[in-house]
Amino acid sequence: MKKWVYLFDELGIIEDRVGRDFESVKALLGGKGANLAEMARIGVPVPPGFTVTTEACNAFLAAGMVFPEGMWEEVQGALKAVEKRCGKKFGDRDNPLLLSCRSGARTSMPGMMDTVLNIGMNDATAQSMIKLIGDERFVFDAYRRLIQMFGTVVMGIADDLFEDVITRVKRERNVLNDGDLDGGAWKGITAEFKGIFRSHASRHFPEDPVEQLILATEAVFRSWNGKRAVDYRNAAGIPHDLGTAVNVVTMVFGNMGADSATGVALTRNGTTGENRIEGDYLTNAQGEDVVAGIRMTNDLSELEREMPRAYSEFREVAENLEKHFREMQDVEFTIEKGKLWMLQTRDGKRTAQAAVRIAVEMAREGLITREEAVKRVSAEQVDFFLHPQFESAAMKAARDSGNLLAEGLNVSPGAACGVIALDADLAEAWATNEGKKVIMVRPETKPDDVHGMLAAEGILTSRGGRTSHAALVARQFGKPAVVGVSSMEIDMNLRRIKVGDRVITEGSVISLDGTGGEVYLGELSTKVPDIKDPWLMELLGWADDFRKLGVWANADYPRDAERALSYGAEGIGLCRSEHMFFEAERLPLFQKMIMADLPSEQQEALGALLPFQREDFAGLFRVMDDLPVIIRLIDPPLHEFLPSIVGLIKELADLKLRLKHAGTMGDIDALLLEIKEKENLLARAESLREENPMLGLRGVRLGIHIPELTSMQVRAIFEAACMVTREGKKVRPEVMIPLTSHVNELRVQQERLEAEAQKVMAEQGITVDYKFGTMIEIPRAALTTDEIAEVASFISFGTNDLTQTTFGISRDDAEAGFLIEYMEKGILKENPFAVIDAAGVGELMRISVEKARGARPGMECGICGEHGGEPRSIALCHELGLNYVSCSPFRVPVARLAAAHAALTRREKAVSAREPSLDHSGERPN
Ligand code: PEP
Ligand code: MG
Repeated sequence: MKKWVYLFDELGIIEDRVGRDFESVKALLGGKGANLAEMARIGVPVPPGFTVTTEACNAFLAAGMVFPEGMWEEVQGALKAVEKRCGKKFGDRDNPLLLSCRSGARTSMPGMMDTVLNIGMNDATAQSMIKLIGDERFVFDAYRRLIQMFGTVVMGIADDLFEDVITRVKRERNVLNDGDLDGGAWKGITAEFKGIFRSHASRHFPEDPVEQLILATEAVFRSWNGKRAVDYRNAAGIPHDLGTAVNVVTMVFGNMGADSATGVALTRNGTTGENRIEGDYLTNAQGEDVVAGIRMTNDLSELEREMPRAYSEFREVAENLEKHFREMQDVEFTIEKGKLWMLQTRDGKRTAQAAVRIAVEMAREGLITREEAVKRVSAEQVDFFLHPQFESAAMKAARDSGNLLAEGLNVSPGAACGVIALDADLAEAWATNEGKKVIMVRPETKPDDVHGMLAAEGILTSRGGRTSHAALVARQFGKPAVVGVSSMEIDMNLRRIKVGDRVITEGSVISLDGTGGEVYLGELSTKVPDIKDPWLMELLGWADDFRKLGVWANADYPRDAERALSYGAEGIGLCRSEHMFFEAERLPLFQKMIMADLPSEQQEALGALLPFQREDFAGLFRVMDDLPVIIRLIDPPLHEFLPSIVGLIKELADLKLRLKHAGTMGDIDALLLEIKEKENLLARAESLREENPMLGLRGVRLGIHIPELTSMQVRAIFEAACMVTREGKKVRPEVMIPLTSHVNELRVQQERLEAEAQKVMAEQGITVDYKFGTMIEIPRAALTTDEIAEVASFISFGTNDLTQTTFGISRDDAEAGFLIEYMEKGILKENPFAVIDAAGVGELMRISVEKARGARPGMECGICGEHGGEPRSIALCHELGLNYVSCSPFRVPVARLAAAHAALTRREKAVSAREPSLDHSGERPN
């Protein structure tokens, strides 16, 4: 029979069942339960307790909210063991044991599910506790917390109803803090809370501790499917079928006087990654007070002064936990009358910057290997370094003109601008329905606000610290955030914020600098930062040692190539040579070439374009000294270089109207001339019109049709190559012919172009290393790459077109149209233009590479479609044995890391295939 409940010290029994694989333990006990059990095993002071498994939760939910058979009996058994250990009894009048009921899923979902504290309190136990402890204030504060949490979590009563009572009583008694209310006040509040409970839950508050525990356990199970938990899982990509465990833990109290405290800490700085413990705590407080941001917390450093002994014990435990788990820990602790208890430890959430620094420093400290460091940083986290930041000039100007509104804690970096929305629903509505960029501004955030936070560009709160809910969530989702802006007052009635004497209404634009912790009025301009972060540089260097794939960049201009090179690109995988023809001076020449009736006119236009192209390519060769540069010859259909037919018809109509009213003969002559030119353009545009231009006269077909055009490009490439060689650089041009479908078309085109290349080199008296090759963008080319390889000496997968031609869907139209519907309906899991479709496009690539290298061993195979910068597609390219991926310069760092991940994952798979029992090898995995 299944076992549903495990005591914290029963880790051994669990491992007998699931093996010594910590991930399997976590799946069963949830992260919190597994870590509590692990802490108990290594001798960390953990209050006695037990965990009801995630399997029990799933069984409960599946059975329509009924505990699985035998579960409750096991709970009772575990409870007895806990009572024995504590020397107290649950529900006992003389020496009562109090419990907390805490949720805990496999993946941490901070604050998304429910917790009930102080279970076991009732009128009788309250009285006996007063006798035992002699502190009425403490007892009634604890009792009212139970009623409040039970009311909100189990019965769904609005929390404000309870909080309003506390606020009123504080006002009446003229005190500022909760801690200043005396026993009498809390006793009165407790009575009022019971009244609220009765009228809103239509029943009395349950005095029976066992009933309390049953209802609380059910509520925690149910909270797995609560709205905020579901929203969070959707956003974080956490599966919905994991379930939550319930941890039933003996209560320890941080609100037992001046020698008691409760707090949270990160063993390293979660924002910068600095190796220094940081945290917040409150003296004489309980549970959620610290994270809720309701009271101003103290910095952990003050605890050293206030309770030196407990502090040094805490530090030692925290440091040991980090060493034990070999990861930055996020811990929760309580000090009860000078005695330290650890309530929780888990891997700490962190910003991208912190993730990188922590991984690198832990590897340098010898805590983890370089390989682990590389694996611990995700490609998205590297991407974050390339996200916009505010221009320093813009920030200075804003400061100088008095637009720096306020400062707070810089808890999640990055720049965000948007309109102020003062609640989560409005933030979401404005962002989703009206497409507005929104900054969500709140006093503090609660788990219920997550949907607004996700919709917002950035988050601003007036309260809370580095470990507040707002900070944690913002960091996890990479949203810039500034919290604890105490100078800011939020007036929810008038829907405005006030800073000093400045009043800013909801809907006004502000800019948030999560990196520096500043808030500005208006919209500031942003820039993409240089990735000079020394830890990132080091990590990417390690990634380079592991990866097998080369990382090249798609760059048309020298400035792009320079950026790519500075980001670590090892070549140019795609220069789309037609892009230059769209520039101001060149477009008229290019159009002249299209319009030419006589070969001499065409040659004249091409001759005029040649020096421009030569300079374009020379610029690239100079930057990419001794690195390969793939120049793709003209690809798009010619009509793209002419004005649109509709536009021309309209212009002609306008000109003809103006002709009617023209006054002078000079005007008439000029207009007639213009009309003639436009009519010619229109006639040519119409003659070039195709029903399916993407399947029409483009790529190699165009090169065959107008060989003078591609010959000019090849002449420009080789003249530039000779010129730059003469300047003392090493030039490695690779000429790429697009859109081949049959080897014969490639042969025809390439023979002519290679002859032109030879001619130029002979003229110049210089020989350069060069290659001619083609793109694989059409299934037929992929299936016949063995034939193609007889002509081409390299191939590059143009997966944008290859996806288009394999699926037979237009890349220009589908992404904005039916493809969205396909994904919504689950017909396609992924957008194939974003992530390579492994089963179709990927399979064609596999065949193509195999055939290519069969015919020409060691043939250079790469990818230059957009997928070349996407991590999962990069992993596929690694599997296919490509030589390189080529992507936008901004994705180069991401690709370097993703390529390393692919290589390391492959290596692990190979090892585990050889050693199938690795999980049971005896070493405790982490
Ligand atoms: C491709 O098709 O993947 C490609 C790189 O070429 P383009 O996007 O220019 O068609
Ligand atoms: Mg293409």
